[in-house]
Amino acid sequence: MAKTPVLTPRADDFPRWYQDLIGKAELAENGPVRGTMVVRPYGYGLWERMQQELDARIKEAGAQNAYFPLLIPQSYLTKEAEHVEGFAPELAVVTHGGGKELEEPVVVRPTSETIVNDSFSRWVQSHRDLPLLINQWANVVRWELRPRVFLRTTEFLWQEGHTAHATYEDARDYAARIHRDVYADFMENVLAMDVVPGRKTAGERFAGAVNTLTLEGMMGDGKALQLATSHELGQNFARAFGTRYLTGDGRQEYVWQTSWGSTTRMIGALVMSHGDDDGLRVPPRLAAVQAVVVAVRDDGEVLATARGIGDRLTAAGVRVHVDDRTDTPFGRRAVDWELKGVPVRIEIGPRDLENGTAVLVRRATGSKEPTAIEALPGKLPGVLEAEQALLLAQSRAHREDRTAEVTTIEEAVEAAGTGWARIPWAALGPEGEAKLAERGVSVRCLVAADGSVPGSDDQPGNVAVVARAY
Ligand code: AMP
Repeated sequence: MAKTPVLTPRADDFPRWYQDLIGKAELAENGPVRGTMVVRPYGYGLWERMQQELDARIKEAGAQNAYFPLLIPQSYLTKEAEHVEGFAPELAVVTHGGGKELEEPVVVRPTSETIVNDSFSRWVQSHRDLPLLINQWANVVRWELRPRVFLRTTEFLWQEGHTAHATYEDARDYAARIHRDVYADFMENVLAMDVVPGRKTAGERFAGAVNTLTLEGMMGDGKALQLATSHELGQNFARAFGTRYLTGDGRQEYVWQTSWGSTTRMIGALVMSHGDDDGLRVPPRLAAVQAVVVAVRDDGEVLATARGIGDRLTAAGVRVHVDDRTDTPFGRRAVDWELKGVPVRIEIGPRDLENGTAVLVRRATGSKEPTAIEALPGKLPGVLEAEQALLLAQSRAHREDRTAEVTTIEEAVEAAGTGWARIPWAALGPEGEAKLAERGVSVRCLVAADGSVPGSDDQPGNVAVVARAY
């Protein structure tokens, strides 16, 4: 029996499929103000797990959490010339408060470099105060012209790191450490997403940065998405705000800084990377619910056994939910768990009970296997790890299959119709980058010949990864 599709098939209309999935899996809905979103509990649960995993890595890298105000004096933004130029078109400006026009307008933070430096200029006095490593979990507002839920919203949730260092080298190394040990590690090992770490070209850098490191992921339709960025800010903000320290030999020096951020965009990336025509597929290490035990019918013994399995799996270290909503048809519930992408489903009905088995359904492979109830606690951790590995392998194979090695702009544009192209940066340069941009294709990042992150745009052997992007 052919299943009636719950979602618009991906191959028919990828953007529609995405919107359908976001709605039907109950991840989010659009807010009344264009570009805003309501994150529903299941979507927020994904975000909370992302926060936990990232927060642990950020703390491991030595940063502490703090909180800075949402409202920033407009004059702060104008202190760093490139920063204001880059952000001016996206600012939400508050001109009235308490029924009166404000003497000085304030902006809703689009990012917090300026207000953080206002504090840093007071917190940093001597070299003994460095490095100063701060992170904040917050919301920001950027007035986006082409919003799309999770991927590009006007208000989004994120973490933003802000650090100050005594030397250029220390700041450079810390930006690289966050890029590698926090972001790349989290994306590969938790999100099971293949990502390409690289360096943004001068044209694509963050406004006010001297270097931007990025992680680029390939979505299901072959387009690219920038997943997180880590910036070296040089001394730009330190000079604008007077953030200086006294060196060991009594000189006043400006600090060297970094900033780095990752956002609710990652939820959209998860959908677009791992989703299929039946819904989302959540990698087990991320999933708040790794296994759902579904009682097929309201039969006292079935329910008791389902709950018993739940308890034993919990004891085996699995994050479990027992679905005992037997007043809702079993088929509807099964479709719902598929949509939500819970990695493993354990279905138990009266007939299974007689045999002492349950049906183990794996979301990533779709396989259904009768399994002895006794064997489940021993078996599940291995099954979850296999699912995790499979998703990463599929994501990697997808990127490799759809990436072409090219040498001309024409070939690059053609390859960008279905995936990515890699082209020597020496053959492209800023002029070629501009020509690609006219055709809707951008340089996502530069990578060194050996796959590492290059130390400069013009390092010999650099390869540009180009694509259409979200
Ligand atoms: P930035 O501060 O501009 O470097 O942004 C940090 C990260 O936020 C980027 O790497 C993007 O992944 C993400 N991002 C930027 N704009 C948005 C947006 N409008 N909605 C969601 N995520 C965003």
